Amino acid sequence: MIDLNNIAQRPLLIAGPCSAETEEQVLETARRLKNTGKIDIFRAGIWKPRTRPGSFEGVGETGLPWLVKVKQLYDLPVAVEVARAEHVALCLEHGIDMVWIGARTTVNPFAVQEIADACAGTNLPVMLKNPINPDLSLWLGGMERLIKSGIKQVAAIHRGFSFAGEKIYRNRPQWQIAIDFKTEMPDVPMINDPSHICGRRDILHKVAQKAMDLDFDGLMIESHITPDLAWSDASQQITPEIYADLIRDLIIRDTKPALDQRDELHRMRKEIDLLDDELMQILIARMDIARRIGLYKKKNNLTILQTSRWMEILEKFKNRAANAQLSEEFISRMIKTIHDESIEIQENVMNQK
Ligand code: PEP
Ligand code: MN
Repeated sequence: MIDLNNIAQRPLLIAGPCSAETEEQVLETARRLKNTGKIDIFRAGIWKPRTRPGSFEGVGETGLPWLVKVKQLYDLPVAVEVARAEHVALCLEHGIDMVWIGARTTVNPFAVQEIADACAGTNLPVMLKNPINPDLSLWLGGMERLIKSGIKQVAAIHRGFSFAGEKIYRNRPQWQIAIDFKTEMPDVPMINDPSHICGRRDILHKVAQKAMDLDFDGLMIESHITPDLAWSDASQQITPEIYADLIRDLIIRDTKPALDQRDELHRMRKEIDLLDDELMQILIARMDIARRIGLYKKKNNLTILQTSRWMEILEKFKNRAANAQLSEEFISRMIKTIHDESIEIQENVMNQK
């Protein structure tokens, strides 16, 4: 039996189709996934909250007995997405082993609370996807609702955040939000869902590998027997055999250094700590000057931003980044953040009565 509080082997592997479509498709996917020897939990969506009406919205309750067959035939625990209390009741009735709350539901505290209440007092493990918008509090808040209602086994699923603009990913990973979640709730296992992050097959492995290197506890990956013909999320699904290759090719590194590696790592970390101290001192000194400049500008009635001066600074940093083999994007993001704070400080000083 799966115990989310005690994951026997990292990564916990959850795989299965985006949607249950027909009994044959579900059973054949499960058979071939079981054959890979690389699956702990079988997933399939039967109630599908879709962005636009008219897309396939799931087979509904009809699909539950198919999943029960997967349990019996292939000895796999089964998981489905729930969005309402009545879904939970039906899952419990049929003996579904585990449920997850989808990204479109996590945004709604009423819905999460309703599901939490429906699960209270049962042994049903519940996984919570991040909300579609990059809001850490909403994700943490959803998890607090589950834990407060007494649910004993929970996990978080990182599936990326929707955004407008140029797209490599279907949903931008914004890894820092998942790391912040882990920092706030270190006891809650964190599962990565590369399928919904990528929305395409060619970069699934790269994202899954990154999750492993960030010490995630598990992976949820969509797999379909004929991915191109899938009724939902066709472009991101992979066959069970390609899924097996992907898992086989992952490098699972140790989460803790061995005894003989500790000294060297410790020395390098000490070096980092010293530099971080210096970085702090420099920032303190820099903001102090910003305060003095604010006073000067107030006295002499000058604007905070002098665009040409700012453009010079930005250009200088970008050139230096290129010469020092640092990412230009990172350096410009860093100096913009520092500059922003400096403006904020000057603004405070200048508007002080
Ligand atoms: C899914 O897992 O198929 C799904 C709908 O995911 P998400 O809630 O992450 O969009
Ligand atoms: Mn999907």
